[in-house]
Amino acid sequence: MQQQQSQATIRSIAVIGGGSAGWMTAAAISKSFGRSIRVTLVESEEIGLIGVGEATVPHLSAFNRLLQIDEAEFIRQTQGSFKLGIQFNDWGKIGDSYVHGFGTIGRDLGLLPFHQYWLKARAAGKAKDISAYSLNTLAAPLGKFMVPPSDAPPNTPLAEIAYAYHFDAVRYAAFLRRRAEAQGVTRIEGKVIAVDRNGETGFVDSVTLERGDVIAADLFIDCTGFRALLIGDTLGVGFEDWTHWLPCDRALAVPCAKMGPPTPYTRSTARPAGWQWRIPLQHRTGNGYVYASNAISDNEAAAFLLAHLDGEALGEPRLVRFTTGKRHRLWDKNVIAIGLAGGFDEPLESTAIYLIQAGINRLMALFPDTRCDQALRDTYNAQAQFEYELIRDFIILHYCATRRDDSDFWNHVRTMALPDTLTANLELFRANGQFFRNGAEMFGLTSWVQVMLGQGIEPRSYHPAVEWVRDEDLLRLIGHVENVVAANVGLMPRHEEFITRYCAAPASGTHY
Ligand SMILES: Cc1cc2nc3c(=O)[nH]c(=O)nc-3n(C[C@H](O)[C@H](O)[C@H](O)COP(=O)(O)OP(=O)(O)OC[C@H]3O[C@@H](n4cnc5c(N)ncnc54)[C@H](O)[C@@H]3O)c2cc1C
Repeated sequence: MQQQQSQATIRSIAVIGGGSAGWMTAAAISKSFGRSIRVTLVESEEIGLIGVGEATVPHLSAFNRLLQIDEAEFIRQTQGSFKLGIQFNDWGKIGDSYVHGFGTIGRDLGLLPFHQYWLKARAAGKAKDISAYSLNTLAAPLGKFMVPPSDAPPNTPLAEIAYAYHFDAVRYAAFLRRRAEAQGVTRIEGKVIAVDRNGETGFVDSVTLERGDVIAADLFIDCTGFRALLIGDTLGVGFEDWTHWLPCDRALAVPCAKMGPPTPYTRSTARPAGWQWRIPLQHRTGNGYVYASNAISDNEAAAFLLAHLDGEALGEPRLVRFTTGKRHRLWDKNVIAIGLAGGFDEPLESTAIYLIQAGINRLMALFPDTRCDQALRDTYNAQAQFEYELIRDFIILHYCATRRDDSDFWNHVRTMALPDTLTANLELFRANGQFFRNGAEMFGLTSWVQVMLGQGIEPRSYHPAVEWVRDEDLLRLIGHVENVVAANVGLMPRHEEFITRYCAAPASGTHY
């Protein structure tokens, strides 16, 4: 019995692909299991990385803690900057602007979240825009940033600043590679040209590289990006296409010269055939136009993007094609797809790197032996489905909750049929401003409330329990929160000052 167990233990893992997904996975596995599992990573310089994916959500700091990554060092080495949220311009209608900030809105009181009291105060004309009641949404447009100072009094907005990172994707993969190799991961350069499967079980036994090497392993992690070499090409796991809800299928990416200090937020501007991102780094600004190919040609999109940059373009726009959706199963036999190989919800809310992290966490929690028990796979796949679908709904919200009618693209997304799950969320919020987080869904109340209000969805009422609070107490709460948030933001330095003091990167010879 003892022997049977040890024979089934995973001894070797092959990670195929060396983008963010591959190196995050290899770094996390080697950190967690030490040298008791042999980790090999295969990547092809000739194929290269996707090289986009430079804005994140706050969860990445937990990944960094697992890897014992020093934050300042990480930011320096990736030419990174900090992010309090995303500024959405022209989404609800042209001229609108709101920030979807991380963190909380105001202070909850009794049974109810803060925004319920705010809804009543606003109805009486006694409240400011919701952005005045959250540190992130107030500080971001003012260009203020700091990490929570160690001497901040507990329970104050300063003590709870929620933030994420912007970084250079290519430098991020290289940074993780150095760590992973130091932890014992073996990197093999080469292109996989064949995948060999066990005739009986269908499990993958090995991959063969162009130059003839054969790499065998007990478990394979498919991090081959949109190619999905193992999960798609080899195992034939089908793809659930979400283009009817998320019709953008191409992006053009181009860096431009940095003009002024980096903003502590990502900017997303709605455009006639999609939207444009702007990600400030220390050495350059990343930009891209995400669009639907049936709404604009590549040439027109490239010209549009180049005409809407802050600074001089540092190269030609690079085209990336994608299809929104996910594989029916992310874990099949002894192959687990992590990263773009598993699916893509589209980059609007910077969730893809989070989904890599979530995939790694799930793999650790459900770590199998060589038999890859079906119950483990089923659980992994069900959780991944849940996670991707609820993020998908949140992204669709930005498109459907619009009054824009200036192009076929916006007319389509404004009037398209929605997933039932999203419709239910919208109806609940319209009724009396409520939102219920579905289990461990990634985006919580703050996110949904900010985006729904920011896109012009107005609740007809508020929770009846708000009436139990006397008007003067309610107004005192609203006024107190406003003052505390403003006072805390007043204590924050400017983002660039904070970077200079904490994590200034060396001058970069190259903008890539
Ligand atoms: C337009 C766009 C914008 C994005 N923006 C964001 C964002 O702001 N935030 C965010 O979190 N995410 C974003 N993403 C997603 C993010 O880019 C990816 O999740 C992340 O880069 C991980 O990619 P990956 O490692 O799965 O794939 P890739 O970077 O494509 O890496 C694939 C790897 O597989 C290797 N490979 C492929 N085939 C073979 C083969 N036959 N043999 C050997 N090696 C092979 C390649 O060489 C490469 O190393 C964006 C994606 C797109 C398309």
